[in-house]
Amino acid sequence: PNGRTQRQTALTAPGVTGEEIVHWSTFSLSARNPMNEAVRQRRLIEVDTFEEFAACWPQLAQSAAALDAHAYIALPLEFGGRLVGSIGYHLRKPGPLSDSAREFVLSLANLTAQALERARLYEQEHAARTEAEQANRAKSDFLAVVSHELRTPLNTITGYVDLMLTGAHGPLPEEYADYADRIRSAQKYLVGLIDNVMRFAKIESQQIAYDIGVYSVAELLRALVPLVELQVNARNIAFVIEAGDPAQCVRADREKVIQILLNLVANSLKYTDRGGMVAVTTSCTGSAVDIRVTDTGRGIPNDRLESIFEPFVQVDSSLTRDGEGVGLGLAISRELARGMGGELEAVSTLGLGSCFTLYLPAA
Ligand code: ADP
Repeated sequence: PNGRTQRQTALTAPGVTGEEIVHWSTFSLSARNPMNEAVRQRRLIEVDTFEEFAACWPQLAQSAAALDAHAYIALPLEFGGRLVGSIGYHLRKPGPLSDSAREFVLSLANLTAQALERARLYEQEHAARTEAEQANRAKSDFLAVVSHELRTPLNTITGYVDLMLTGAHGPLPEEYADYADRIRSAQKYLVGLIDNVMRFAKIESQQIAYDIGVYSVAELLRALVPLVELQVNARNIAFVIEAGDPAQCVRADREKVIQILLNLVANSLKYTDRGGMVAVTTSCTGSAVDIRVTDTGRGIPNDRLESIFEPFVQVDSSLTRDGEGVGLGLAISRELARGMGGELEAVSTLGLGSCFTLYLPAA
């Protein structure tokens, strides 16, 4: 494993003692023995008689005699040009080997090398995955702690700014009221961002609980209206909701569905120019209800349609209006959809618009 020693994976033969197993479990690659010879010469080593063996490796003659061995062979184990070890056999009959026996041991060495190499790759992959999982957990913990620590002073800022704006200690001069207003909106924006990071960290560490119930789709969509009204009016965009079959119900967590739809509508409004349209429609196909948020906005390039669901990915952050968002909304929304047994997918045509579909189990 380290280029200096060989570690025995197995050592078996009738007559091999426990002491010998321990002795041979690890040996230096510079030690004189036939296994190392096979490694050094990178070829099959054949010793046909006990006498020849004893002459080559006198210090090993006694244990070979104890095994009643008359011949010995050792082969390097190679896979893809990489030396992974060697294999040795004490033989009860004197050599030379027949051609078919030689072929047999060579192909056995080949298979053994493959198996060892696969085991090594598997172990390496397993170790890398464990490490990555640990790093990911550390990242989520870090995000959770940092966002929590940021949230607390922000709440204090909100409290004091609100106090100033209410004029509890006398009215603010107009200019200061304007400053306070700006602090208030910057603070609101920061709280939004931090809440998203906290939500994401919670999803990552699987701390999100789902409160699943049966809800009317029409009612869910109705609940959305007051939540997006302000943004719709501010953008001068036509906003349409078609609730479809009034009896249609889904099995889901109400708050999370609204959170997902809110995110989808907010995105559509964000990436659609004035005079455009955003529509929320729904239909049922067998066991799933799909709720679609369609817009006539700038669209998403085809090769980015999947990556926008990854955390912190934005198609072009320089184009994001007012520097809003950090690219967490869709990652959170998809995780939430999946957490409820649903799915979130997107189709889009660049320059014409996008359609995000939330699939939920029908009830
Ligand atoms: P954010 O909106 O905070 O950047 P999201 O995860 O919600 O993060 O969205 C990721 C990216 O996907 C956005 O930055 C934007 O580039 C793209 N995107 C999302 N929704 C739309 C949409 N309706 N139209 C065009 N691009 C969109």
